[in-house]
Amino acid sequence: MSAEIINGKKIADQIKIELKDEIEDLKKQGLTPGLATILVGNDPASSTYVRMKEKMCNELGILTKSFRLPVETIEDELVAIVTDLKIDNEIHGILVQLPLPKHINERNIIRTIPESKDVDGFHPLSWSKMMTGEDTFLPCTPAGIQEMLIRSGHNPNKKHVVIIGRSQIVGLPLANILVRKTSGANATVTICHTGTKDLSHFTKQAEILIAAIGKPELVTADMVNENAVIIDVGVNRVEAPETDKGYRLVGDVHFESVSQKVKAISPVPGGVGPMTIIMLMRNTVKAAKQFIKV
Ligand code: NAP
Repeated sequence: MSAEIINGKKIADQIKIELKDEIEDLKKQGLTPGLATILVGNDPASSTYVRMKEKMCNELGILTKSFRLPVETIEDELVAIVTDLKIDNEIHGILVQLPLPKHINERNIIRTIPESKDVDGFHPLSWSKMMTGEDTFLPCTPAGIQEMLIRSGHNPNKKHVVIIGRSQIVGLPLANILVRKTSGANATVTICHTGTKDLSHFTKQAEILIAAIGKPELVTADMVNENAVIIDVGVNRVEAPETDKGYRLVGDVHFESVSQKVKAISPVPGGVGPMTIIMLMRNTVKAAKQFIKV
């Protein structure tokens, strides 16, 4: 039997409609939300992500200031740009696309972004607020996954959620968000990683399995149970000489076989990706609202 497909694009479109209304309201009060996007270097995947984020801003009527910097940009130059944006009243959110080139210390750059414009939710202050459950900007991918689960009718409340991956941008914050004693969370969370001895032992127990690994199609049908809901975060390029681009995108889950077995699954593309982008927009609108209050 084929699984229910959790359509992230459709859910993101719904949130887009809601955000449009909020943006209209802000504009009536004389404020247009603004997002600065900074890309250092020309990594093709990062360029695509930034383009998609800017396109969504345009569609929503969010002002964008876009910075494309050469790969040899030094840390001080980047710090100077972010410092200018700190006091730019047209800009309410600052997005520095990660990863940065190796010679730039990402942590330093993230710390330079003021907490009030930290729409990616990576600043240590945003993190500590997330850990203590205070209101803050939640990181976009984990927030998007939670929203996708709730809106598709798979509320994590009281479920056993197994997350593969403990990165700072997906696995760890997601575990924190889903384990909270709040509605739309309240899950029992297990985190797996390369130190996990028998990955399948854990994945088979998952009522909700979230794969954030970065390894093409690592999760196969024999690793999941038939009642599971699968969220595939992975975006991996695999060679496909028969295509125009020469590659195709696959997730961390072997979609073809796993979708024949489980209850529900999010596809790649069209799953977590659109949710990440729309959460960035939501955080930008939230930042603009906080700015207008001040
Ligand atoms: P990451 O920083 O490389 O982290 C990968 C995690 O997976 C690590 O915790 C690693 O364990 C674990 N892992 C790797 N191989 C494993 C294995 N064989 N068994 C068990 N665990 C394993 O990656 P990330 O930034 O979290 O991203 C993960 C994937 O999601 C990537 O494909 C990325 O492109 C994608 N992504 C998508 C979006 C989106 O919006 N759709 C957003 C962010 C990321 P260790 O900690 O032990 O090394």
